[in-house]
Amino acid sequence: MQTEPKIDVASLKHHAFAEIDALRDEAVAIAKEIHANPEVGWETPHAAGLLTGYLERHGMLVEKGVADLECAFRGSAPGREGQGPGVALLAEYDALPGLGHACSHNLIGTIAATAGIAVSKVLGQLEGNVYVMGCPFEEGGGGKVFMIERGVFDVADVSIMWHGNNEVRVGSPNIAASGATYTFTGKPAHSGQAPHLGVNAADAAMLTFAGVNALRQHVTPDVRIHGIIEEAGTAANIVPERAVVRMMTRAYSYEDVQALRERVHDCARGAALMTGATLEIEEDMLYAERLIVPSLREVVLESLDLVGIERPDSDPQSFASADSGNVSQLIPHVTFTLPVDDRGSVPHTAAFAEACDGPMAYEALVTAAKIMAASAIELLADPERLAAIKAEHARLKAAKAQRVA
Ligand SMILES: [Zn+2]
Repeated sequence: MQTEPKIDVASLKHHAFAEIDALRDEAVAIAKEIHANPEVGWETPHAAGLLTGYLERHGMLVEKGVADLECAFRGSAPGREGQGPGVALLAEYDALPGLGHACSHNLIGTIAATAGIAVSKVLGQLEGNVYVMGCPFEEGGGGKVFMIERGVFDVADVSIMWHGNNEVRVGSPNIAASGATYTFTGKPAHSGQAPHLGVNAADAAMLTFAGVNALRQHVTPDVRIHGIIEEAGTAANIVPERAVVRMMTRAYSYEDVQALRERVHDCARGAALMTGATLEIEEDMLYAERLIVPSLREVVLESLDLVGIERPDSDPQSFASADSGNVSQLIPHVTFTLPVDDRGSVPHTAAFAEACDGPMAYEALVTAAKIMAASAIELLADPERLAAIKAEHARLKAAKAQRVA
């Protein structure tokens, strides 16, 4: 019987670390450039272009405009398509309206690309491929949901992502979220002379909130329902013809969010019925909760050990939501975080945006790329370990399906 030559996994990881150290200046320059030119929504061509250019300069194959999304892309090591398992590294690069890069996406994209390049340099001794998934419009657009639906993730067996935070976390559970826009159309009238001729859309908006507030008592403690009235008339002496309500719902599981969203729709429908206004409902993307796979989490924890970062004591429940949750429902996924700020600022604030362009952030960039690369190499070097992770993911999915059935 022929014995296979044993792969020296430790030396492959150290080779990747040396690649990342050599990429440092280029990576930091890209993250800085993305930070200085924040783009929002689906229109992020500058950031996507910087990242795809970076991948191509270092020999990776880049498919642009995947999933029919102009600013989505998929990078991979050329010539290895369909060979062995695929590890997906998730890149994000959209900013927040008015706040700029206050969610560390300037770093998330650069980290995934840097780790992908480093892993591609050592793939010669491994079976499989590394993919850098360029995922547009995370902040509300659900770019990954489209990429999943349109098959971009079909090549991947497992997925890893980094996110900025103010502490180290590996695989914290988060919650599912969705929302909807309710547009009420009434009938304008003179509020003094002929109010009986009007249909008041602003009343419908307020009654929607009244309905939601009555609903709050009868939901589980994990549930969050929060909203705003975007429009509710133009002048106090005109019966408001149009009102727009934005409402969001969150819960531990996406099945619960789906059911809950339907009940919020009913509040709006009831409000329309009470006032006589007509109602149009536009649903947002559904962001699934993150499914935590302990055996995959352990791979990242070992990579933390390798770069000298202390393991977190715990990974508390997060009440934020992300479309990487949808990836975690499809394949085993882990998100880990490193601090980018020591003043305790949190994402989606101006202080955090400032921190994402600071020395601690760029230190985190290099360390996170190393943790990601080492984890990807580990997964590609040990097919049995990867198979066990996939089996655990399948078991967790089946257990959840039984719970919600
Ligand atoms: Zn965010």
